Amino acid sequence: MLQVIKSIKDMKQKIKTIKDSHLTIGFVPTMGALHEGHLSLVRNAKKEHDEVVVSIFVNPLQFGKNEDLRHYPRTFDRDCELLSREGVNLVFYPDITEIYPDGFCTSVIVHDLEDKLCGKTRPGHFRGVAVVVLKLFHLIKPDSAYFGQKDFQQTVIIKRMVYDLNLDINVKVLPTIRNTEGLALSSRNVYLTETEKKDALCLYQSLVKAQCMATSGITDTEKIIREMKKIIHTCASATIDYISIVNPETLEITSEVRNGNVVTLAIRIGRTRLIDNVILTF
Ligand code: AMP
Repeated sequence: MLQVIKSIKDMKQKIKTIKDSHLTIGFVPTMGALHEGHLSLVRNAKKEHDEVVVSIFVNPLQFGKNEDLRHYPRTFDRDCELLSREGVNLVFYPDITEIYPDGFCTSVIVHDLEDKLCGKTRPGHFRGVAVVVLKLFHLIKPDSAYFGQKDFQQTVIIKRMVYDLNLDINVKVLPTIRNTEGLALSSRNVYLTETEKKDALCLYQSLVKAQCMATSGITDTEKIIREMKKIIHTCASATIDYISIVNPETLEITSEVRNGNVVTLAIRIGRTRLIDNVILTF
């Protein structure tokens, strides 16, 4: 039976019971509007742990002033149904005031990593992510926490935070789940019109191009990005926020592509900002 817990007090109590029984906890933090990408994290957590906790919290601190906080899709009943079907027993679904009571003023800054890539166009975003994830980690005390590679910069920042603060949490990063045409699943895909959905395939197509070029021995970053841009520019509704090829730990931009570098991009399709990435292997 799926139990929905809304208060920190009840959650602490529940976690204590689990820990007292020496059961392991796998944790999947989400903002809800669940899709197969989230569910793949849940399935892995289920496989590897006795208990799975899924949090559903649309975190206001990670939205910019002019971003989509108010319109972000919220499908709580359906989310619970999906999680029940996966055999999840525990959902943490706090109100904003439960997480951020009056006077809340703590921030978590993962310097050097938070202001690159998406951090440039979304200032403050990763501080919002880091503080809520750290708070949830303290509360849920998971053995492992599951994240999707789709939010690549987020995974790098969380791993760094866990390492720097000596948290005993195994951070697991799982592959991006895509639709049959290659579009990475995202809760924000519901904003796309049918035409935009087709245009949005240019993200994946450009990443495939980058992988093909690297496989064929081209290591000049600029050359690869130039070809990717050509693909993006064929889509009427697409505008480029950034396309970068980076070191997977430091997020530093590389000029010569190496095995394991990550091609990462953010593209606006109409008014919707989409991100995607691929780890280059050759
Ligand atoms: P969100 O609800 O968007 O905050 O995402 C919650 C978690 O699901 C994050 O770790 C995301 O990286 C992950 N996630 C979102 N979309 C996908 C996807 N298409 N494939 C795999 N994981 C995903």
